[in-house]
Amino acid sequence: MSKLMLKKFISRIAVGSGLLSLVSLRVKNKGLILMYHRILDSVQKEKYFIQPGMYVLAETFRSHVAFLKENYTLLSLPELMARTKNGQNINKCCAITFDDGWRDNYTHAFAVIKEYQVPATIFLATEFVGTNRLFWPEELTFFLQKFNEDSRPESDPLLSRLREKLRNQTSPPELFLDAAILELKSWRPEERHQLLVFLRDVCGTVQPERLFINWDEAREMLASGLVSFGAHTANHVLLDQVTLQEAETEVVASLQTIKDKLGAVPDFFAYPNGNYTNRLKSLLKQHGFKGAVTTKKGWVEKSSDFFAIPRVGMHQDVCSDLALFEARTLLRRF
Ligand SMILES: [Zn+2]
Repeated sequence: MSKLMLKKFISRIAVGSGLLSLVSLRVKNKGLILMYHRILDSVQKEKYFIQPGMYVLAETFRSHVAFLKENYTLLSLPELMARTKNGQNINKCCAITFDDGWRDNYTHAFAVIKEYQVPATIFLATEFVGTNRLFWPEELTFFLQKFNEDSRPESDPLLSRLREKLRNQTSPPELFLDAAILELKSWRPEERHQLLVFLRDVCGTVQPERLFINWDEAREMLASGLVSFGAHTANHVLLDQVTLQEAETEVVASLQTIKDKLGAVPDFFAYPNGNYTNRLKSLLKQHGFKGAVTTKKGWVEKSSDFFAIPRVGMHQDVCSDLALFEARTLLRRF
């Protein structure tokens, strides 16, 4: 039985037996913040540029929102955190967040947000807004698939090093890609850059259609009164891998650009990849942020560190039906 089948089986039993209701006592008086990235209507259409574990299908997202609307009080992230800070009741309160500012948040998620009239917050990596740029994991996903399809010989020491590291992880391809991205996150930025330069050179440049929202789309979402925006750096830099000064430049640039382009102050920040340090937390406080979200799994309460706010991440494999979705939110290891 595959891991996913097993999870589906366990989640159904947990829901059916009432076990989940029992577990939910653990999160009584705590708030839930969900983290999404991409919302897609078809995986096939964009397969080269999808990092596995980064998307939820539009129909799945719709079922989540319908379920949440029925069972939770949906609040914007700033509202949820203000209530938490003031010691107000946040039992069964939930905020929806999206990281990065993908164009599909506008083309697919926004329709659902409007249909159900629910609030959401999108964290923007501002230098990607309105551009054809790619994040390195998407670019790498493209190149590695190309490379495999064309079965090219490897002639770069960094690529050999990556392959060597992952030699036990060859199938299925999604797991290989996940493992490759995870491995590369631990490399120095210069090494990642060098590997990409090599792959670009061999495979040719990639020219996908625009993958990130533009400022007009952001303004339209903001004007709906349902969507608010937070900052997520300018260039999606992993902030603990650069100097504090470089980190500050990234943070300030994203803060300022959002203010200039949208006329709204982003009160909250999302650390790219969830990477943070105590110095980064202080830096954000200095620049007036009210809090920052991470990728650490958990629910929020008054005693939570507002500059290391936990969330529950959603991607298609772990939340394709409502039993899985509920288990994902309530069980630690799901
Ligand atoms: Zn991100």
